[in-house]
Formats: sequence, structure tokens, C-alpha cells
Amino acid sequence: MRTDIGIDLGTDTTRVYMGRGVVLTAPTVIAMDRDTGEARAYGRDAYHMIGRTSDRLAAICPVQHGTIADFEAAELYLRQLFARVCGKKLVRPRVMVSIPGNITAVKQRSVVDALESAGARNVCLIEAPLAAAIGLDVDFSTPHGVTVVDIGKGTTEIAVLSMGGLSRCQSLPVGGSAFDEEIIRFARREFNVTIGPLTAERIKKAIGCVKPRPVEVGMVVNGLQVFTGLPESVEITSSQLYQATQSVANDIVSSIQQVFEQTAPEMVADTAKDGLILTGGGSMIFGMAQLLSERLGLPVNPVPDPLNCVINGLGKALTNSKVLQNGDYRFRSLEDLTIE
Ligand code: ADP
Ligand code: MG
Repeated sequence: MRTDIGIDLGTDTTRVYMGRGVVLTAPTVIAMDRDTGEARAYGRDAYHMIGRTSDRLAAICPVQHGTIADFEAAELYLRQLFARVCGKKLVRPRVMVSIPGNITAVKQRSVVDALESAGARNVCLIEAPLAAAIGLDVDFSTPHGVTVVDIGKGTTEIAVLSMGGLSRCQSLPVGGSAFDEEIIRFARREFNVTIGPLTAERIKKAIGCVKPRPVEVGMVVNGLQVFTGLPESVEITSSQLYQATQSVANDIVSSIQQVFEQTAPEMVADTAKDGLILTGGGSMIFGMAQLLSERLGLPVNPVPDPLNCVINGLGKALTNSKVLQNGDYRFRSLEDLTIE
């Protein structure tokens, strides 16, 4: 029997679709033994090792800004995924995988190469914003502009779709983790306290905001005093976080403006009427939809399940090939990929 699977290889989280639904959701992290190159843990278990490993053990996030940054670690990670979802099946799976909208041919090859080395037979690459639109059942087959903004952990994908494919696409190397970094910087500047990335992410999810919250909230955070190196607790408030997140929010707004400037006015007018589709985990920070709507002067439609649009789209594309009528979406092997 043939096995087809969909993989959303995100900077933050990898999701796998097989059969009739999402069968695996795991942080894109692998813990490997530096000496032997063997995997010690992956996913959630490896995630908790970030910042807590020994000299010999490394917890690696192999995907950075949407593309493979550490090939060896990515391959090892994908091997664990295949072993988990395909078990001991003898047939190598065909894999439909999402990639950022405008990555280079070399980076595309590295995704295919990593998947094949880990056990895939053939690979079909689909741009993530396109997959998100499919996942949301948005019709982009007609000559009508549909704008999708997908804010992930390490990238923001901005795409205008029309006539069944991508008309314009830009990938900004800024996403949810840029907010975390700003929070770390703020704590150091304001309180002389160093906090770790996992703590910063927790603060962002709990009380972070890109628009002022109607009711101010605060949170006690544990970190290390810069001068003494000793543990210290400080209280951080939502209005402080609002200040800290502005520069990243501005970057996202101006990138969308840039894409609109390069897009045919008719298609921007379509988006102004229908609204922009906002997805990805990074878009879940408080106030993002309102901020974009106000700054861009158009309606913004947040989606019900922003984390799963892309993987749901890959699942739909696997089971219904008609959704990918336009464009060259085929399963290929590494040898079939040519570098222009
Ligand atoms: P990727 O596709 O890059 O793997 P995801 O779409 O899964 O990313 O989103 C992950 C990002 O979303 C992370 O930076 C995470 O901190 C952020 N995120 C997830 N939930 C929330 C939330 N409730 N509030 C703010 N940010 C969130
Ligand atoms: Mg994503």
C-alpha cells in the first residue's frame, strides 16, 4: 500500500498529516549526542532540554527562519518522525511538505535531500501560504487577489494568491521569536535581569501585546541578576511589553505595505474588500489583527485555528489533487530537481 504524508516543517513546530488527520505535532527540536551523532530525544522531550543540556548533549532547532539551518540535525529529526508515524512499514512514504514562499533553489534542494535521506521516496514542495489558503477552503482559483499573512516563529510569509497560484510572495525573517528576543532585551535593559528564551515566550503568550490591553496585567518573572549572577524575581507589565514589541510589529506592517506596493492595484483592492487572512502562531499575540487592520486600513480576518491551517491544507492537497491545478506541484526525487 502507498503511504502519503504531509509535513509542515515549521521553525517552531512540525506537524504530520497521514490518512485522515494530523497524527503528530512536535516541537522542531532534536537532542543529539555530539560524539556519536545519535538521537537522544526529539520533539517535546528535546524542547525541555534547550538551555539545560550537558557538554556532550546538544538540543538543536534544525529549522531557522523556515529553512533548514542544520542539515545533519534536520535529517536525524525527520528520521525520528518517520519511525514514529510510519513504524516498520516497508514502503517509503511520498511526502508533501510546506516551504517558505520564496526560498532559493539550493534551500529547496536541502529540504528534499533531508527528507529523502531520512526515508522519503518522493517529495512535493508547496509554499506555506498557499497550503494555508487550501486549509481554510479559500477559493483562489479565479482572477481575484487573496492575501495571506502567516506569522510563524522565525518568518512572516506574506503572499498574494490569484488564478490558482502565488502572484506575489515575500518572506520576512521575523516572526514570533523576534517578540521573545525583544522581551529578553527589555528585561535586561529595564531590570538588569537576564531571562531565558522559554521564559520570554511564556511571558509573551500570557501577557504580551502589540496593542495596549484594556486592562493592565502583570507577571512575576524569574531570571538572573546581570551583576551578581544570582536569581532575581521582577514584575513585568503588559504596557511594558507593548513598548517592547513595537519595533517587531512595525517591521511586519511595513513588509506587508511593501508587498502591496509591488502588487497590481486590482488585487490589493480585492483584499481591501474581502479582508486579509491572518494565520500562524505568531499572529496569536494580543492585538495583532487589530493593529494590522488599523495600520493597513483594511479588514483583517483572523482564522479559528491559526496553528493548523498549513497542515490541514497539506492534508487536503494530498487527498484531493484538484486543489493544486495550477503550478508545477509534482512529487519528485532529488535528481529531478534542477538548479537554475
Ligand atoms: P512555525 O510555523 O514557525 O513552526 P507556528 O505557526 O507553529 O510557527 O507558531 C509558533 C509561534 O507562535 C511561536 O513563536 C510561538 O511563541 C507563537 N505563539 C503560539 N501561541 C501563541 C500565543 N497564544 N500568543 C502569542 N504567540 C504565540
Ligand atoms: Mg508555519
